[in-house]
Amino acid sequence: MATDCLLCGKAFNGTGSSAHIADVLLFPLCCDCHVQSDQDPQSVLIKYPRLFDQSRSTPMATSMPSFVSDTQSHVIVTGIHMPFGSMVTLMVKWAIASLPAMMMLATIGCLVWWFTCAVLIGTRSGILQTIFQ
Ligand SMILES: [Zn+2]
Repeated sequence: MATDCLLCGKAFNGTGSSAHIADVLLFPLCCDCHVQSDQDPQSVLIKYPRLFDQSRSTPMATSMPSFVSDTQSHVIVTGIHMPFGSMVTLMVKWAIASLPAMMMLATIGCLVWWFTCAVLIGTRSGILQTIFQ
């Protein structure tokens, strides 16, 4: 199945990806246009002003259905196009953000472990007292 890209008009296979620039949902986009709209949305605004003029004259008639905001919607991620540098930044942020979560889990784990040990030791000394009284 071939689809025509909204921006460059090039036909491509698959359902394509979407981008959200200046309250306009751009869909379908080919891979190149998606990456471009991610990295440099301003250039897309300048290069394809007709897409954004249409939405301003008729704000309710965008390609986004109006009921989307009212109902819960499912999002199916089929792929992520992301520059390597951005991905490195994201992973570093992710790793740093996971440190407080790790500390919380370690604290909870310690408390549970201490409680378990206290119960086991108490039970064991009770048994020993019963045997060797
Ligand atoms: Zn394109």
